Amino acid sequence: MKSYPLMVIGTVAIDEVETPFGKRDSVFGGSASYFSYAASFFTKVELMAIVGKDFPIEYRKILEEHSIGLDHLQVTEGKTFRWKGKYESDLNSALTLDTQLNVLLDFKPELRPESPPEFLFLANIDPLLQMNVLDQVKRPKCKFIACDTMNFWINGKRKELDSVLKKVDLFVLNDGEARLLTKEMNLIRAGRKIQQMGPGTVVVKKGEHGAFLFCSEKFFSVPAYPLEEVFDPTGAGDTFAGGMMGYLVKSGDLGFENLKRAVVCGSIVASFTVEDFGLDRLRKLKLNEIEERIEQFKKLCHF
Ligand code: AMP
Repeated sequence: MKSYPLMVIGTVAIDEVETPFGKRDSVFGGSASYFSYAASFFTKVELMAIVGKDFPIEYRKILEEHSIGLDHLQVTEGKTFRWKGKYESDLNSALTLDTQLNVLLDFKPELRPESPPEFLFLANIDPLLQMNVLDQVKRPKCKFIACDTMNFWINGKRKELDSVLKKVDLFVLNDGEARLLTKEMNLIRAGRKIQQMGPGTVVVKKGEHGAFLFCSEKFFSVPAYPLEEVFDPTGAGDTFAGGMMGYLVKSGDLGFENLKRAVVCGSIVASFTVEDFGLDRLRKLKLNEIEERIEQFKKLCHF
């Protein structure tokens, strides 16, 4: 089996999404799918997840075409995880209409003990499963672990999530989740409180308003790339994390200055994701377009 510098463990899903611009059934989604696709612009990435027998072969091909490692994509009897969401006037937050865990209930992620990934991303999934993986991780072979979550798990599995946070280096979450987790409305205070829960580094994403990076006592604030049209925000958070982690793996530098660049890179990749439904925009995207947008962004922020 091939070994990869980066592994993501999360969901591979079939989504139903409604935005003010249209409605689509059977969109290929899931936290691990979006993350791995974005990260694979920068590095080799392996995806660990579970799907049911109903998982379309075309979706698998989309990942294969981007050289994403699928040896750990388990296929089992039953139905693939399904999520139904809607965005109303506020495109920064999705309203979950339905979550069907399906085969996720049987998921038992198992790391290869002989060749653990150097970088690990625990994408949005049941914190109990995230903890399961963390119990198998051997430090210092695995040198950097990051994770994500969402309101569904903050509300439903808080104790398990608290245990996860004690063991990760970086936590990426959005503004609403940061407020829900800390009961703190001010995002700077919320970020600091989250650092005290465990992760030395925290990224709070604020949708169209950019992101905050907290790293030990250091702080960085970055705007979002200004877009006139946002079509479908689904996957923005996961592709932000994928672009950011992919950049970190490629550069191999975990210092604060490089973390800042990684945050910008994640935010630029996410700015492409939202320009179309699902992975449609990223599937047409070329690395040079990401680089060009980063250059434009630099000019926009410089004074
Ligand atoms: P985001 O990047 O935050 O927009 O994430 C979007 C993806 O998260 C969708 O493709 C969903 O399939 C997936 N998702 C939704 N709810 C959950 C959940 N409770 N656990 C894991 N993944 C989820």
